[in-house]
Amino acid sequence: MKNYRIALLPGDGIGSEVMEAAWPVLQTVAERQGFSLEGDWLPWSCDYYLKHGTMMPADGVEQLRAFDAIYLGAVGLPATVPDHVSLRELLLAIRQGLDLSVNARPHRLLAGVKGPLRTDRPFDILCIRENTEGEYAGAGGRVHRGGELEVAVETAIFTRAGVERVLRHGFEQARLRGGKLASVTKSNAQRHSMVFWDEMTDRVAADYPDVAVTRYHVDAIAARMITHPETLDVVVASNLFGDILTDIGAAIQGGLGFAASANINPAGGVPGMFEPVHGSAPDIMGLGLANPLATLWAGALMLRHLGEIAAAEALMAAIEKVTATGAGTPDMGGDLSTTQLAAAVTAAL
Ligand code: ATP
Ligand code: MG
Repeated sequence: MKNYRIALLPGDGIGSEVMEAAWPVLQTVAERQGFSLEGDWLPWSCDYYLKHGTMMPADGVEQLRAFDAIYLGAVGLPATVPDHVSLRELLLAIRQGLDLSVNARPHRLLAGVKGPLRTDRPFDILCIRENTEGEYAGAGGRVHRGGELEVAVETAIFTRAGVERVLRHGFEQARLRGGKLASVTKSNAQRHSMVFWDEMTDRVAADYPDVAVTRYHVDAIAARMITHPETLDVVVASNLFGDILTDIGAAIQGGLGFAASANINPAGGVPGMFEPVHGSAPDIMGLGLANPLATLWAGALMLRHLGEIAAAEALMAAIEKVTATGAGTPDMGGDLSTTQLAAAVTAAL
């Protein structure tokens, strides 16, 4: 029987609640589909920091390389460790250490879920965000600090390799989905990096003649996600633009309780990291109120990435069977606890 080794990083706050609820569901899916998942729980978190002075052991990233995938709850508990320390030492360290340059987020309105839009247009988009460079590269500086002539410069970095790999991943995904790709820029205003992005889009598109490409400016596609979401399928965007568009996507799909994310190195050879988009939610931690569906959805992304497509689809079908009944946690307008909702998904499998 095929066995996958998964690094389980519950992290902080509701991270451990959603992970403890979701993991048995994934194991049941695996069992039904004829493979097994072996999880190693790694306690790397703010608690760990308070005991050891670091968020993870010095060889943490090296330890992770031995796994087939990383499944993460949430990182950061600002009441104990400042976010810039916990995120940098754990999340960013893993992302950079394994060069997880692509961030993929599916946005879809599940059956029975009431989104904020008054529309019955289908909403099913896969946003692919460049995760390591672009506007968040951190290049720049300040001159004449504090003076009348003070200047702050933030330089976006777009490398040929970085732009090409995120676009290529987008085209691959478009092939697996509706054969349609939206490339997001602001090339009418940003005439260096975004014109380059357009050129790279054309160049990569030549290898995918079966995929229909449309270029959108980021402002126009932001509006389109709300007015005509059914015209979009795979959306590829830079770090900043992707950050903003995926927040819009998460809002339309019903909020943070649903949004899931895959951090992938498209070159392969290292584990991907799969996580709910939400944080540790200190305001509801320990109350059993956290919605586990984003974590379960992230689990489905992980199974798909491992090549277990049937298992991923069975899990999504079970999730949707439950949401269609109107059952859910309080953020969904329901009265189930985290573990009750996860148990309902298991029952629906
Ligand atoms: P971070 O800085 O880590 O993003 P945050 O507090 O800004 O932390 P979240 O932790 O994601 O962001 O929480 C934002 C809000 O959404 C909170 O009110 C939280 O209770 C709610 N929330 C987040 N995740 C869930 C969830 N899975 N189920 C229910 N409510 C959630
Ligand atoms: Mg936040």
